[in-house]
Amino acid sequence: MQTKLVRVSETEVASDPEQRKAIEKAGQILREGGLVAFPTETVYGLGGDALNRESSRKIYAAKGRPSDNPLIVHIACLEALYPIVEEVPESALRLAKAFWPGPLTMILKKSGLVPFETTGGLDTVAVRMPSDAIARAMIEAGGGYVAAPSANTSGKPSPTQAKYVAEDMDGKIDMILDGGAVCIGLESTIVDLTEERPMILRPGYITKDMLEKVLGEVEVDRTILSADSGLKPKAPGMKYRHYAPKGELTIVSGEEDAVVDTINRLSKENTVRGEKVGIIATQETRERYAAAVVKCAGRRADEEAIARSLYTILREFDDEDVTVMYSESFEGSEMGQAIMNRLLKAAGHHVIETHKSKEKEER
Ligand code: AMP
Ligand code: MG
Repeated sequence: MQTKLVRVSETEVASDPEQRKAIEKAGQILREGGLVAFPTETVYGLGGDALNRESSRKIYAAKGRPSDNPLIVHIACLEALYPIVEEVPESALRLAKAFWPGPLTMILKKSGLVPFETTGGLDTVAVRMPSDAIARAMIEAGGGYVAAPSANTSGKPSPTQAKYVAEDMDGKIDMILDGGAVCIGLESTIVDLTEERPMILRPGYITKDMLEKVLGEVEVDRTILSADSGLKPKAPGMKYRHYAPKGELTIVSGEEDAVVDTINRLSKENTVRGEKVGIIATQETRERYAAAVVKCAGRRADEEAIARSLYTILREFDDEDVTVMYSESFEGSEMGQAIMNRLLKAAGHHVIETHKSKEKEER
């Protein structure tokens, strides 16, 4: 299959006739059961008609994704929510008012309109309304319901730019809409509204505090930062190894000086052994590291910048054939949990804690 790559821009998509035509074409492909990758404010999505079971099957096949890992249904207006769910609870309306369009996914009871192929066999459905203008125009043109996981091969870091989508999906899907680099860089926050208490199943840009301001107390799935594979996460997809670069990634946590010393020591040892070492540093520490590749994720206090650059750095390490990677730890207050959740998965929960009196390695 030939994959068509078309450039579109968020600011011109509504007015430029050529770009409008590309969106119409994308809509036609979706309505005919084909697949289109598209930018959203979080990461690039791999879209198919959410109400067409064949389209959902194609999405799983293109990604190599296990079929029990449900897809998020993307809509462009609130009215579109009603036909695909059994009921719209008041909590969902309050969250929609506060955070839609935006990086929040809600889990609700599904209606008969949504095929089980889209929900991985579950009787609930994940729904999000993205804010990206290209995504919204494409959803409208495609019939209003677009099932879209991240547009990467299953297990790899989610794509933050169209070139990474092409790397994984070229020849496997009909079209890629290239809207440039995404803004947020981490997947949406997922909140489950089907139980008595709302529960965060995946942390993201919308934090627990932000949700609690709207809903009152919100619980967090215990498995989000846990390495215990005996615990079963409530979002099926969270059990899989994810976001992983090709090389071995280790997170080093603790006080800054100890972290820098430990990473430099390990970097040297591995370089001597013939490994190509990459380091994820912050602006505050980048000059202090010696390794083949040192990447700066941003200022430590700027969690949005760190979130935005994380997957891009992991992909760049792949491009540069880095074999061993070390990252500083990011346990900040706001998006810190979302960043750590992704980083821990990318590292297979391999963490070295330097602040312990005797260096302790956990796997
Ligand atoms: P991705 O589309 O790659 O960002 O992954 C979607 C995430 O949403 C996965 O972790 C899924 O397990 C989760 N998800 C989608 N639908 C549901 C659902 N009905 N219940 C729980 N988790 C869901
Ligand atoms: Mg994904």
